Amino acid sequence: MKPSILIAGGGIGGMTAAAALAQAGFPVHLLEAAPAFGEIGAGVTLSPNAMRGLDFIGALEAVATAGVEPQRQRIQHWQDGRTLFAMERGDSRTKYGAPYVYIHRADLHQILLAAAREAGVKLQADAPVVASEGTTAILANGSRIEADVLIGADGLKSAIRQRFETQAAHFTGHVAWRAVVPMTETLAPLGEWPGVHVGPGRMITRYPVRHSRLLNLVFFARSDAWPDEGWTIPAQPGELAATYAGWCDEAQAMIAAAEAAPHFRWAINARTALPHWVVDGRVALLGDAAHAMTPFLGQGAACAIEDAVVLARAMAIAATPEAGLLAYEAARKARANFIQAESNANADRMQGADTDMFGLSKLRNEESLGLFDYDCRTVDI
Ligand SMILES: Cc1cc2nc3c(=O)[nH]c(=O)nc-3n(C[C@H](O)[C@H](O)[C@H](O)COP(=O)(O)OP(=O)(O)OC[C@H]3O[C@@H](n4cnc5c(N)ncnc54)[C@H](O)[C@@H]3O)c2cc1C
Repeated sequence: MKPSILIAGGGIGGMTAAAALAQAGFPVHLLEAAPAFGEIGAGVTLSPNAMRGLDFIGALEAVATAGVEPQRQRIQHWQDGRTLFAMERGDSRTKYGAPYVYIHRADLHQILLAAAREAGVKLQADAPVVASEGTTAILANGSRIEADVLIGADGLKSAIRQRFETQAAHFTGHVAWRAVVPMTETLAPLGEWPGVHVGPGRMITRYPVRHSRLLNLVFFARSDAWPDEGWTIPAQPGELAATYAGWCDEAQAMIAAAEAAPHFRWAINARTALPHWVVDGRVALLGDAAHAMTPFLGQGAACAIEDAVVLARAMAIAATPEAGLLAYEAARKARANFIQAESNANADRMQGADTDMFGLSKLRNEESLGLFDYDCRTVDI
């Protein structure tokens, strides 16, 4: 009998790990704090390295079909909208053996949930973990759930991470407004050629989801502090227009669309790198719980998926759970630390003081850094 595995957190990382571990024959019990399984109403980019992870659990084509595979992307100037840098994306399947996909998070989560369910994962929502002892999770209602191994996939505010450090996540000096808006005739060209408008201390990202019926918008801005209660708050009318005054017509069209839809302001919080991801031999962290990063390389969810697959592979070949978790940490930590650091550096590159200089020297981005080449299905463990 394989060791039983308890996963705290049913987000992208936890759900992928649950599916992969159950497919490998482990009895898996997943605890999710929210009253029902689901994801926030926003988009996510899945680069080819993430899609290989989804291929490992048999979900690649379902995700690609539910998402949008862009042909190209571009970086544009904030003031006049001119193209500073263009990227080919339509060749991702031939170049990397896996597609590059934009998808609504709810659609991705449905597919992961189905994969976990089909693999036989015991799924329990409305089960917030408030503490843990050994490999036992303690829920808010006082009940204790035991297993042989405990995985903390419970995100930025992870309860399991308290076993590693007592510090809370920190504010990174960035805020983001997020909205998903109907695709209109005005917005269609922005969906057909998705990308980012960059300017000093600010940027706007847009891409299509739901078969291009919706446009996902994220407005980033630097901020000295986050004085508000809570990390996600409804945006005030006019906030975006004031923050992006003087930006080009396309930016103003995206602002008008976001202002007309429900949109929220997010504090971008992150974690510092931990010395270890395993504690007491049989407790480990995964995804944002281990390495929450700024979103400026679009690799947080990709890293969580990679973690999940490498964890399942490591556990499947290890003689003991302890050896499996250590092998997982050894295989994953350096890459996650690297991406975490590069994500921060990319914020400075994209939002530099002199936008006219952008792209003139060799660009360091998720593709040129070689992040797309990583294959979590075969990487050495
Ligand atoms: C603006 C923005 C844009 C981004 N865009 C991208 C992108 O394009 N591509 C990309 O790869 N990444 C992106 N990311 C990063 C990505 O969203 C995260 O890295 C990813 O969601 C992490 O997945 P996770 O499963 O580790 O954590 P989460 O998604 O945070 O999931 C954690 C789960 O655990 C549950 N939970 C929390 N606490 C408990 C508890 N105590 N007990 C039980 N359950 C609990 C939560 O309800 C949740 O379901 C972006 C992030 C931001 C902020």
